[in-house]
Amino acid sequence: MPSIRFNRNRVKLNRLLGIRARLALLAVILVAPLMLERARSLETARTRQIALASEEFFNIARQSADMQREVIMSVETVLKSTAYVRASASGVSRSCDMLRASLPTTLPWIRTLMIAGRDGRIQCSTNNQYVGLDFSERPYFRGAQETRDFVFSDYLLSKPTHMPIVMAAYPVAAITGEPDAVMLASVNLEWMSKIMSNLGGRPGITAVLIDSEGTVLAAPTDRTELIGRPLDSVPLLSAVAETAMSSDKPSDTVSFTAADGSKRAINFTRIADTGSRLIVSIDETRVTAAIDRDIRNAYLQAGLVCLIVLLGALIAAEKLIVKPVNMLAATAKRFGLGQWSARVATKNLPSEFVPLAKSFNAMAAKLGQRERELIAANDRLTVMASIDMLSGLANRRGFQNHIDVEWARALQTGAELSLLMIDVDHFKLYNDTYGHPEGDACLSRLGETLAQIAQATDAFAGRYGGEEFCLLIPGIDARQAFEIGEQIRYAVLELNLPHATSAYRCVTVSVGVASARPNDALATTDLIEAADAALYAAKHHGRNTVIAHGLVDSARETTGVARAG
Ligand code: GH3
Ligand code: MG
Ligand code: MG
Repeated sequence: MPSIRFNRNRVKLNRLLGIRARLALLAVILVAPLMLERARSLETARTRQIALASEEFFNIARQSADMQREVIMSVETVLKSTAYVRASASGVSRSCDMLRASLPTTLPWIRTLMIAGRDGRIQCSTNNQYVGLDFSERPYFRGAQETRDFVFSDYLLSKPTHMPIVMAAYPVAAITGEPDAVMLASVNLEWMSKIMSNLGGRPGITAVLIDSEGTVLAAPTDRTELIGRPLDSVPLLSAVAETAMSSDKPSDTVSFTAADGSKRAINFTRIADTGSRLIVSIDETRVTAAIDRDIRNAYLQAGLVCLIVLLGALIAAEKLIVKPVNMLAATAKRFGLGQWSARVATKNLPSEFVPLAKSFNAMAAKLGQRERELIAANDRLTVMASIDMLSGLANRRGFQNHIDVEWARALQTGAELSLLMIDVDHFKLYNDTYGHPEGDACLSRLGETLAQIAQATDAFAGRYGGEEFCLLIPGIDARQAFEIGEQIRYAVLELNLPHATSAYRCVTVSVGVASARPNDALATTDLIEAADAALYAAKHHGRNTVIAHGLVDSARETTGVARAG
């Protein structure tokens, strides 16, 4: 049972997987590895692009942090050199002159340079409006005095100008070791933003410089509105504000999902000697958008190619295999119906099918020829089967066929049909006297004679069996038939074939004649029996005699024997 089920399933599968489906499947199997390889190479390219983008991203962040650091160092250098002058013997006035002179046009990020005395009062400034102001409470002033080191402040709003600034302070104490004046510089935040411009205008990249409190000091020129805002209010960066602020590392990278759902990587780098941090965030999705689009297009292309290949395979299967096979099958079907003249048209066939089609056609031609030969042979056999070889007349079977045909015709026309039964007299004795071969020769001569008479009288002659012949004559009555019987009897006598053991000293025949007008109540056997009965009577009458049976109408029971002679 299981094997039967399996076979059934296999048949179903085979039906399902017709030649078209198989070719289509084959085409897909051939194309699929190419497509998969393309998809794989695109995925690899994507990974590489992401790696390149993040490397570029880190470089940019590092470069930007270095540039900020350089700006701050340049401020520190200016302040330091002024402090040295101040610490030298030349004193306050020389340092003030130098300060003014050195407001460096080459360092445009320094807005104002000032010297605050030990008490915090501004002794001199590149901007006179600050002179005399008390800076002693400012945290950066105090910080510089306390740490005796360079201090870079957090985000400030300049009290006199209400401009956002960052202050740098360098105490003379860092050189002399004694409490003394502090060199101050206000740094232009716009400049700090300007040097971040390489981070601006890039899709998916957000960058800000924040102070130790998390206030934005600088941002690329297209995002300057962020300056002065706390980091936790900056869109997309608020989520990492805390992480960025609490990290102790000089540089760190974290990945996170922003409020807009974008997957972002964020890098924060501390600016050395300051509390500032540069934060650069990148939207991985936007960076990879182009390659993602390429991959999507590639998959679409792959799908399209597969579809085209599938369609191509189906059309090719239809045109190159299914159609020719159907053509051959249709022709084979016609052959099966015996239409051997059918031929496969090779003109529209694919060349691979042409030899097969030609073989088909040649086979059909040969089989047609064979069939014709067979029919001819059959016809010959049929003829041979109805001919008696010895006499050359029809045999019993041939006679039977003929009487059936003539009977049916006479039934239709209403004509009379006469039958003569002719038997050689004392033929056994003839054989005994002259031998069987001579007997055969005698029968042959009698056959010839009967054939001539049959031809002359439009009759059909046959050898009924042994030494008994018959003659079927349509369209004549019993009298005319009787006369033909007599004609036969004379013809045999005239042959004068010696028969020493016969009373007549030559071969003679007895003839029984019967005539009938065929109707539905009569059959051929009735006519044959009547002729036989007449022949029997002729034998009894002394042989070499013709007797006619008076069978005319069986309905009237006229079965009397008429004798003529
Ligand atoms: P009857 O006059 O009463 O017809 O006597 P008969 O001897 O002719 O009849 P019977 O039926 O006794 O014998 C017929 C003989 O015909 C016997 C048989 O050997 C012979 N015969 C039949 N067919 C052939 C044949 O084909 N060749 C030869 N040589 N003899 C045949
Ligand atoms: Mg006989
Ligand atoms: Mg006989």
